[in-house]
Amino acid sequence: MANLRDKFSSVTIADLVASNLKIKIQKATLDTEHTEVLEEILRRYRITVREWIENLGDSETPGIGRDFLERLSILDCEHKIDLKQRPAAVYNSFYKWGGGEFVNTMTYGEGALAGPQTAFHSEIHEDEHGLQKHAAAALHISPFNANCKIVVCPEDWMLLEQRCEEGAYARQSWFGMLLGYQMKRDASLWDPDPFTPEEFWALRQKGMSVPEILFEAANQSMKKSYYSDNPNSSFRFANSYHDVALQNYITGITERVNKGETGFIFVRVEPEDVWDIGNTSIFNCFGKNPSNPDLIKMPPLLPFTAMNLKNLRESYKIPERDTLPTLREALASLNMTKADLIRETFERGKIRSQQTTSVPVLNVA
Ligand SMILES: [Zn+2]
Repeated sequence: MANLRDKFSSVTIADLVASNLKIKIQKATLDTEHTEVLEEILRRYRITVREWIENLGDSETPGIGRDFLERLSILDCEHKIDLKQRPAAVYNSFYKWGGGEFVNTMTYGEGALAGPQTAFHSEIHEDEHGLQKHAAAALHISPFNANCKIVVCPEDWMLLEQRCEEGAYARQSWFGMLLGYQMKRDASLWDPDPFTPEEFWALRQKGMSVPEILFEAANQSMKKSYYSDNPNSSFRFANSYHDVALQNYITGITERVNKGETGFIFVRVEPEDVWDIGNTSIFNCFGKNPSNPDLIKMPPLLPFTAMNLKNLRESYKIPERDTLPTLREALASLNMTKADLIRETFERGKIRSQQTTSVPVLNVA
């Protein structure tokens, strides 16, 4: 094993990719030695991705890649590799099991072996979810945050999920466009996600500014068909994320109730709470108006999701959204600010990371 590790100092990414292909062919033989090769490939990809990010920028946004990395360093997110994980990258915030602690972890998985460009798109998307956690107090009143009695109502949990994805896909299309441009507009580097780098590029060519396009990207991405081969399908990205969010909510709140917890303070969010989610870069993808009432408007739920929501509300006696206090009012009653709420989570996370344990986690972003 030591010899294998020594070899890594002289091999190139191309050699490692060749090893990866060979291992894929002989998948049944994925032993410790092969696992070590694959993990080394992912480490190399991550270094390549960081170099690409560092150089991102154009005339309107010089140094935006370095700015992104600086913001990430404040986030103080732990990085891991787990080949048992299918997605290329995942950002984890709160534990699903084990006390609802804040894990603040980015994990590269098997999917990133597809190549450094796949790792790039996934990392940008998931990093953005991490930055959102640092920017928005509303993401800390999660049913998974067992240290917080204030819990967002399920409707707004779905809304927050949708807005987080809008922000992440907007950032991904922006940086994907910059990477494609940086790499001489090589279209193979452009990922076909809900709002593509090509679409971003086309709007720039029409003279729109970066903040205007980010707003457009955030606004359009979740309205698109979930199926790339059927753009007219009524099942939209927003529907998919609502369903996932509601299932997660049920898991989280059920766990806490089963542990005997009571005294939840259910709240609703205001436009400003949602706008905070976009506050991860010099341009907020939700525009310049934090009080924009559209920020808390949601598309209609599919009947299946609406039925699950009704059942959930009845099971746990969660009042109707419009009768609830706002997050701002609930915090004021506890003599806290939004900044206090975010700081408490991150400080608790730091203490936890010094006593690291291996507990399964769930991505709730
Ligand atoms: Zn996401």
